[in-house]
Amino acid sequence: MTRRTILMYHRVADDPADPYGLCVDPERFEAQLGVLVDLADVVPLADLVAARRPVRCLWRRGRPQVALTFDDGYADNLEHVLPALEACDVPATFFVVTGALGDRSGFWWDRLALLLGGRTEVELELDLSGSPLRVSLHGARAATDALVALHSRLRLVDMEVVDAALVTIAIQLGTDVPEPRSSRVLRHEELQKLASSPLVTVGAHTVDHRLLAGLPPAAQEAQMHGSALALEELLGRPVRDLAYPYGDPSSFDRDSVDAARRCGFATACTTLGGRVTRLNDRLQLPRWMVRDWDATAFRSHLVVWGAV
Ligand SMILES: [Zn+2]
Repeated sequence: MTRRTILMYHRVADDPADPYGLCVDPERFEAQLGVLVDLADVVPLADLVAARRPVRCLWRRGRPQVALTFDDGYADNLEHVLPALEACDVPATFFVVTGALGDRSGFWWDRLALLLGGRTEVELELDLSGSPLRVSLHGARAATDALVALHSRLRLVDMEVVDAALVTIAIQLGTDVPEPRSSRVLRHEELQKLASSPLVTVGAHTVDHRLLAGLPPAAQEAQMHGSALALEELLGRPVRDLAYPYGDPSSFDRDSVDAARRCGFATACTTLGGRVTRLNDRLQLPRWMVRDWDATAFRSHLVVWGAV
């Protein structure tokens, strides 16, 4: 049986400020592509999912198949990812947060990281929609621990609450909310340029990167549908693929999968690790996240995951 695996990336950039571990260095990314091309067939996500039908010949094992995905819509996807894909002639799917396209203020989690970066004293008192949050941290790990605490709470609330909280945090830290220049988001015309490559498929990643679990079904559907519609209008082509924001089991629920089905998506990706088999729901596909590994470490992970 052919092994099928979906890999997840976010950024390909040499950015020293990467507290979430989202960046893969451009040279390492090229090396990772080299390993993949050696060991597997890199195929479009739709082909990989369509091919997972029941097999007649269980003893026949073809070359492993891998599909590449990139989440969020960072500008470095155009600068660094597309040239590398073109050099190896391999396809990829890019899941884009449409509400952030062209927004110079970038993603809230990157603004939060810049606000806290390097601080050894973090004293904050916030009110998140009537839910108080106090952070009092000192020492070398203050910024890291504050980032974890605040990220886990802010991902649960509406964008307006997040934006207000970031302003409050900036005031209490005695600074301004920064613009994340190195981790900026694609502009509309940049996404059009990226999407003009025949190797590129663009998928929806909601309007606001809102954590879906627990939201009313209509609100979940609006986040998915709004994202797909904006992409279809911008790119003039159907959008058939979705990635749930965050994608872990606590971030989406049965209503999310039902909403994805009602929206007509052919596939929806999670961030649960695993190989893709015919037993997988096409609207709850597993993916492995790739980190900033050199070729040897990357190959080891592919082996451990059973991808090759
Ligand atoms: Zn995301």
